[in-house]
Amino acid sequence: MRLLVIEDEEDLAKAIAKGLSRQGYSVDAAGNGEEGLKLADENEYDMVILDLNLPGLDGLAVLQRMRATRPGILVLILTARGSPGDRVAGLDLGADDYLVKPFHFDELCARLRALLRRDMRVREPILRWDDLALDPATHSAWRGKRRLVLTRREFAILEYLMRHPGEVVSQEEFLEHVWGEEADPFSNVVRVHINSLRQKLDDDAQHPRYIGTVIGTGYRLEPTGEARAT
Ligand code: CA
Repeated sequence: MRLLVIEDEEDLAKAIAKGLSRQGYSVDAAGNGEEGLKLADENEYDMVILDLNLPGLDGLAVLQRMRATRPGILVLILTARGSPGDRVAGLDLGADDYLVKPFHFDELCARLRALLRRDMRVREPILRWDDLALDPATHSAWRGKRRLVLTRREFAILEYLMRHPGEVVSQEEFLEHVWGEEADPFSNVVRVHINSLRQKLDDDAQHPRYIGTVIGTGYRLEPTGEARAT
C-alpha cells in the first residue's frame, strides 16, 4: 500500500510518515498542494492523506483537481477545520473520510484500514495484458509505467478486448457493446477508434503490437511474449 501525505507542518508530516511506515505502508510526503498533485500524477497511490490549510493551493482545490484526474483514489482529509460546514464541503468534493486535528494516531490508522477494506470490496480487479493495465473502477489505463490518455470509447474498446483475451471481436460486437443504441452499423467508427487507440498504445502504429486485425473477421489482442506476431 502506497500512501501520499500532503501536509505543510513538517514535524507532523514526518511523524505521520514515520508512524505509517512502521505499520507497513510505503509513504511519500508533500509540503504543499502543487507538489502533492505532481506526485499523485507521477505515482500510483492507494490513498492520500490531505491537509486543508496549505500554503498556495488550498486543500479543497487540491482535492477537486485530484478527483478530476484520479477519480478512484482514496482521500482522507486530516485538518484543523472541524466545523460541520467544512466537513460537508470536504465530503461533497469527494473525500472518503474526514478526521479533525488534534487526532489520535491509532484512530488515523483504524480509519485507513477501514477505508482500504471498503475499497477492496468494491474495487474490480485490474485487467492486464502484456504490459497493458486497465482499471475499470477508475477508468485508468497504463502501458508499463506510462499512463494512457484515452477517450471514453477508446477505453471501452480496450476494456472489451481485455475482458475477452485471445478472442476475435467483430465490428458488430464492438458496435453493440461499446456504442449500443448510438451505433450506426454502416459507419467506420470502429476502425477509426481502433486506429486512434493504436496511435496511443504503439510506438509504431503502422505495426500495431497490441491490437491485431483478423482480416474479414475483426480484432483481437495479439498473443504476448514468444508467441507474439511480429
Ligand atoms: Ca496545514
